[in-house]
Amino acid sequence: MNLVPQARCPATGAHPAGAAHYDGRMTNPPFEASSSVGSGLRIGVLALQGDFREHIHAVEAAGATGVGIRRPAELDDIDGLIIPGGESTTIDKLARVFELADPIRKQIASGLPVYGSCAGMILLAEDIADPATDLAGNPQQTFGGLDITVRRNAFGRQRESFETDLDFKGLEFSAGESGVDPVHAVFIRGPWVERVGPGVEILAQVEPGKAAHTDTLHGLARIVAVRSGRLLATSFHPEVTGEKRVHELFIRMIRGEV
Ligand code: GLN
Repeated sequence: MNLVPQARCPATGAHPAGAAHYDGRMTNPPFEASSSVGSGLRIGVLALQGDFREHIHAVEAAGATGVGIRRPAELDDIDGLIIPGGESTTIDKLARVFELADPIRKQIASGLPVYGSCAGMILLAEDIADPATDLAGNPQQTFGGLDITVRRNAFGRQRESFETDLDFKGLEFSAGESGVDPVHAVFIRGPWVERVGPGVEILAQVEPGKAAHTDTLHGLARIVAVRSGRLLATSFHPEVTGEKRVHELFIRMIRGEV
């Protein structure tokens, strides 16, 4: 089995938090055939910590312009925002220090399309089942907007990182003669979704027996991708495997096509 904890973006060579190298299988070999679905769009990627470079590369491979976001004013002329994988507590702290947290909340409330992967899913969640606390005992904060409860590191620790194939709803645009190919998903200390509110659509689940430590699933399928209105979140990292279709789905959401 390939060692997921060492995942590395095949295109840029950069790696998500705690990862160093990815030699795993790729569903859609990486960003080779570029598409133009995103052309004319500016997509911001929160560039405080984590694997923002991989997301910028993914949206550019889909024909959009990817813009790293570090200042509040940079949020004003984007069509959508991606919150990358990384460490949600660090991104939360930095977003507050850089005075980005409230502007991001306002943009979410006013309908900006946002996609969060892994730590980004945590930061979009209204509730965290097991929030980390800082030295003063204050729980980590999220931007919120997505009516879900997530559990951090739910599939286990770094060494329990795993890869699996998922049936993923909403990718019909990519269907070939044999239908929609599964999404090859890489989980690196990812969260799962424990509660979805009304209006939240479940796009993908990990079936029992598919995670590295199956006992952590307690025999239940666990929700790992959701959409609510213009918000999209995945527990896994399509940006490290060259899987473009999740970013394409997000772009189609921005375009109002789906
Ligand atoms: N466990 C991390 C967190 O809580 C997320 C890991 C990731 O983004 N790969 O933020």
